[in-house]
Amino acid sequence: MKKQQRVETPLSSKSSYRYYNDQSWSCTGCGKCCTMWDIPVTRVEKDRLEKLIIPGFDFEKEKFFLPMKKHSNLFLIRKKNNQCVFLDTDGLCIIHKLHGEPVKALACRLYPFHILKWSDGVVSASFRFDCTAVSTNHGEKIETKKGDIFRFIPELEKSGRRSSAVYNHTVAPPLDNLRELALSYKDIILDDTYDLNVRLYYAASLVDFHAAPEHSEYITTMKKEFRYDTVQYLQENGEDFGYTISSAEPVDRIFKMLFAYLLSGYARVDEEVRSGFMFSGRVKRAYSILAFITNRGSLSKLGKDYPVTSGINIFDSLDKSVLGWDAKQILERYVAVQLESMHFCGNPGLNLTFEEGIRHLLMFIPVTIAVAALHATVRLKNQENEKIFINMDDMISAVRITDHTFYHSPFFKLRHVKKMIKWMLKEEKFSSILKMIS
Ligand code: SF4
Repeated sequence: MKKQQRVETPLSSKSSYRYYNDQSWSCTGCGKCCTMWDIPVTRVEKDRLEKLIIPGFDFEKEKFFLPMKKHSNLFLIRKKNNQCVFLDTDGLCIIHKLHGEPVKALACRLYPFHILKWSDGVVSASFRFDCTAVSTNHGEKIETKKGDIFRFIPELEKSGRRSSAVYNHTVAPPLDNLRELALSYKDIILDDTYDLNVRLYYAASLVDFHAAPEHSEYITTMKKEFRYDTVQYLQENGEDFGYTISSAEPVDRIFKMLFAYLLSGYARVDEEVRSGFMFSGRVKRAYSILAFITNRGSLSKLGKDYPVTSGINIFDSLDKSVLGWDAKQILERYVAVQLESMHFCGNPGLNLTFEEGIRHLLMFIPVTIAVAALHATVRLKNQENEKIFINMDDMISAVRITDHTFYHSPFFKLRHVKKMIKWMLKEEKFSSILKMIS
């Protein structure tokens, strides 16, 4: 990759409160969050909740909070029929109805907000896309929720949640430089001068470029024209990138297996594992992963929200798929939300560096498109469509699953997964999968 040219342009305005405005949420009461999630509560919250009078709940006789294996101070609210025991038959929370919102555990009150207070005092906020209202952009804009967001800050601080970030394990520039870099990636992904696959290709090359130790000064001593130059480079070279993608080799067998493995990672149901999921469950899961990778099994065996994919070749699906305009909008909005707020490293517990987070985010896009293509393939099953059209509903189903898993799954902090993603994003590898995205 050539060196970027320097062009004068003002720095983006600094703000102590950061969010991407085009995201909305008003709860529809669908109850999905009380079924999809395992809900962690602290010992203090558990003790407080156990003192409440709730008809049908005898906290002395029965355990409604299960200790978490690796966190002695945390418990998970028990589930019955796959949903929170406190979820009433009308889809509402019993605790909320009887004792009001403030008494609920922080995790319940916080969802679907993702709020971080950074070590330099900046607050960033976003909504979680696994919420049905958020993924459909339903409700009030995030800018109207500032009061709620700031009310959470003292509680988050008390629980020790304060974020800082490093570019990678050897480069630690000021947070403002990382924010500027994240905004540059946002500009690239949203710049529709070129197709999405061209933008992704360039973004992946940029990560590799900055990963080289001799190029780290671009980030550590960031010039004010950095963001402008970065997009300018895409505009000047996009045609060449497009040519590279169109002439890429078809994906090879190893890439196919790794991509399928990654997809299976996005389908993991880790909640059950954390709450004492037994050895036999782990073996069953390993078998389901193997069956899926070797094209004999279905993703629905791994995650119940996945379509039944037995007999469907994901690469055929992906190759034949056409991304609808509104489906693409959802995906681009998702990426913009993560980049504007610098939330693309998922749950702070994953401990991803900026570089790892960006790589995960870039790989997240073809993975989510592949999941959406699987949904579309199943939906169009009996029709002899030459092309598989991915509509908005396919994408909503896909992004809800992939966001949900990525946010919290320890799968994404595994060293071999990080290495695998890095390898798959190499220009010659990544261009092969990007060739299938249109
Ligand atoms: S998933 Fe979202 S819309 Fe549904 S109940 Fe939970 S917060 Fe409300």
